[in-house]
Formats: sequence, C-alpha cells, structure tokens
Amino acid sequence: MAATDTMVPTANYDPWCDDGQSDGTVCQTDNADVYYYMDSSGEFELEPVDREMVVNMFTSEYSPTDLVRHYDTNPTFSGDGETDHVWQEGSEGLDSDAIGMAWCDDEAIFSYKCDQHYIRIRGNDTYELSVTCHEMGHAVGLVHGDSTSPKRDMNDHAALGCMVAEDYEDNLGSNNVNAINSTY
Ligand SMILES: [Zn+2]
Repeated sequence: MAATDTMVPTANYDPWCDDGQSDGTVCQTDNADVYYYMDSSGEFELEPVDREMVVNMFTSEYSPTDLVRHYDTNPTFSGDGETDHVWQEGSEGLDSDAIGMAWCDDEAIFSYKCDQHYIRIRGNDTYELSVTCHEMGHAVGLVHGDSTSPKRDMNDHAALGCMVAEDYEDNLGSNNVNAINSTY
C-alpha cells in the first residue's frame, strides 16, 4: 500500500471511465501487458528523437513496475482488444496551457478501466522525460495531487514524482511504483 494512493480509483477520485478527449477522465489500462504504438505517418507522427524518448522513458522510469511493454507493429483501433497506448505528436484538442494529455479513446472495459488510451504531446522539444513520464502515468491510471488520497499539493515531488502538475519532475517515484504494482 502506497503512503499516498495515486491510482484511480482513490478515496478522492472515483469516476466512471468515460471515453473522449474532452472528458479527461483518468482511467486504468486493462492489464499489465501494455501494447503500444507510436504514430508513424500522418498528422500526428512522432519524430525519431521523440520515439527514442518514449522508449528510454519507459526503461528508466517504469522498469521497477510490473508493467510489461510490447511494441505493436500492427495496431488495432476497433473491437475488444485494441492497442492499449497510441502515442502522438501534436496539439489538436489540447488546452492552451497543456503540453500534453492522455485520454481514453475506447471505452471503459469496466468502471475505471480503458481498452485504448491516446497520448498526445505537442512536440517541438516538449517530448521530454518529465512530460512523457507524466502522460504515461495518466494512461495507466495515475492522478494529480488534488485527486490522490490523502490529497497532496499539486507540486509535491516526494509524493507525486512525475505526476506533479505544474513543476517538472523526471522520476516516476516510489509512491507511483507501489500504486502500479498493487494494481497490475
Ligand atoms: Zn496531468
């Protein structure tokens, strides 16, 4: 049990997982095997340096977790077993002050679980360790300090690691590792 519970549902954040970019619900992914794809053509294609950042971020920050990552060379966007995480570079639909966001695109499997998340980050040098760690966190169910239990200051680095909301922090942190490993 993490000293600070950062994983949806918490005592302070317990929504039904709705899909859609505008909704902004934080949802768990459906299991520990995380199949991911990085857009390789078109409007939201990641540049090579951004692709490398996503891979390195997962290795450096999420290797202490029970999540197992698999690159999906043949991604699926419909049906029951969709590719879990789709990474994109772009700004469409982002709040003007947001560098990135993660959202559930295809619907809750049950209550707080999502079959497919999109993770969209602006690019132009914003595909950084702190930002990718943060959005990856949302896409597995980690929340901001105003939704943890107990609630924490939004920039409490010790409790929130890279889930701090205004400062930047590169480290996933032990609370989040524990929250992930007690969930998946
Ligand atoms: Zn966030």
